[in-house]
This record gives sequence, C-alpha cells and structure tokens, in this order.
Amino acid sequence: MIKRTRVQEWSKGVLLMGRFEWFGTGCWLLHHNGVGAILELPPYSPDHQESPATKAYNVCKKRKIDVKYILCTHTHIDHFNAKTAREMQGAFPQAEVHLQRGFEGIAGMLNKVYFFDHDSKLDIGGEPLYLIHAPKHSWTDTHVIFKGTAITGDWELNTLRSAHDDKPRYAVPKEAKLAAIDKMSRFEHDYKYHIHKVFSVHANDRRENVDFTALMHDTKIDKAWF
Ligand SMILES: [Zn+2]
Repeated sequence: MIKRTRVQEWSKGVLLMGRFEWFGTGCWLLHHNGVGAILELPPYSPDHQESPATKAYNVCKKRKIDVKYILCTHTHIDHFNAKTAREMQGAFPQAEVHLQRGFEGIAGMLNKVYFFDHDSKLDIGGEPLYLIHAPKHSWTDTHVIFKGTAITGDWELNTLRSAHDDKPRYAVPKEAKLAAIDKMSRFEHDYKYHIHKVFSVHANDRRENVDFTALMHDTKIDKAWF
C-alpha cells in the first residue's frame, strides 16, 4: 500500500509535504504569492511511499503554485537522490535548480542547474530567499532562509560537534566549522533580517521564537551530546 502523507504548514509559506525513507528526510515547499521552491530531493521507497515529485506536483497543482526553484541542503544520500531530482524536474520542467558548487559532481546532469559558491539570493513572488553556504555537518551545507525561518539542514545545534567528526572523508575541520558558524552569527546583522524560527530539514527539530544570533554563538561551544 502506498502511504500518503498530509501536508503540514510549519510556518506561513513553509510547508512540510512529507518525510521519506526510514531516515525521514523532509521534502518542503516554500511559497509566496503563488510562486514556490521545492526544498530537498530525498530517496523514497516506491513500494510503500508516494514519490516526493508526485506529492509536490499534486500539492502545487491544488494550491496553484508555480514552482520556480528546486533546492537541496547538502549532498548526503538521504537528501539528494538523482532519481528524485530527475522526477522533480519532470514534474516542474520550468524550474531552475540552485545548488552549492559541491553538488557539481552529482547534479551536473540536471537541466537548468546553477551552482553558487558562497551565497545566493533568490526571489519567490517578491519575497527574498537566501541560500547560504555554511559547512559544519558536511562540506555542501546550505542554510535556506525564507520568511523569518532558517532551515538549517542537518546542522547539529548548540554544539560545535558534528555527527561525522570521526570520519575523515566527511568531517569538516574545526576551523571551517567555526568560520561557517561565525558567518551565520553575522547573518541577521549583515542582511538586516530577523530570523525567529529554526527547522531541521528532517523535521525532527522545530524551534520557534529563537534568538538566531545567540543560537549561533552557543553552537560555537564544544559540548558533549550526552
Ligand atoms: Zn540527513
């Protein structure tokens, strides 16, 4: 049986369309004035899950949302899946794909794909959407900031530590992490933008009324998880 998930509005214009596979990666729709962006391209189990692309197509059709962008927070396999990416392009052939440069090797085959190195500012129906490269959990980590919400990918918050610190192939060195956290701690000031909500892309961490700059300062401290 194919399980269909219910769309949840986590914040105005920020919709969780579903969580996929056993790791529960979220696929999100960010929208404003009838224009939208799809965030995250997770793998799925076709035998018991609706594909993220089908879900997104139906949600956008029903709500009359024109998808302008396809986005992803980092290259890990539970976030970027080539089959899902191609299906998403099939559902929204007019949409541009905007990804951090580190995706080049795995996403170069897509159409209308644009790579950015540091930051990118997009426009969703007159509302800005920022993509900020900030490696901590992985080298391609991209924070997605829209309507006062920061979707922080798989960032481990309130500690400098990261899940892959013990894996030399994946770990981001401490200096690079500190630089990324510093950059995020300056975001509100530099962009004159107030962030008050923080969501993890897996939809397992939901924070409201957040002091984002203070949260970033706290994330610089090396604290044990347990
Ligand atoms: Zn993940």
